[in-house]
Amino acid sequence: MIRAPYNKPLAEIQRIIQIKKRWIFKKQLEFKERTIGEYAHKKYTKGFLIKRVNFYASKIGVYPLKINVKKLRSRWGSTTKDSVINLNQSLLKAPKNAIDYVILHEICHLKIKDHSYRFWKLLQKFMPNYLQSKRWLEVNSNKIID
Ligand SMILES: [Zn+2]
Repeated sequence: MIRAPYNKPLAEIQRIIQIKKRWIFKKQLEFKERTIGEYAHKKYTKGFLIKRVNFYASKIGVYPLKINVKKLRSRWGSTTKDSVINLNQSLLKAPKNAIDYVILHEICHLKIKDHSYRFWKLLQKFMPNYLQSKRWLEVNSNKIID
């Protein structure tokens, strides 16, 4: 077999390209799996939301009359005058700290109706870093609420 010397660098280059291609493909696959994994992880159940409502309700000592998990337009949650908490079903796709924030927010409304200083003070007592979740919900509303 005769091997032309100039063939060698070319083969070498092709080999490197192949390795790089394989590496890129592998990385893309990893990324895809991770994204799907995170999404799957974010799928919570209605039962989970109700569990979190009970958790915060018992902490604050106020209980809703009823909890509805349903399709809501343009809001993550609401509390009615007669102590019914409505939660957006899209919350099931949100991360846990965002879910907790919405639930705690609505439970605090069972005690304080408005968004006064007292309200935020109460909320902050149970979730000192609530601003992070509040911000996340503001940024991701369009993506998640359907
Ligand atoms: Zn509110």
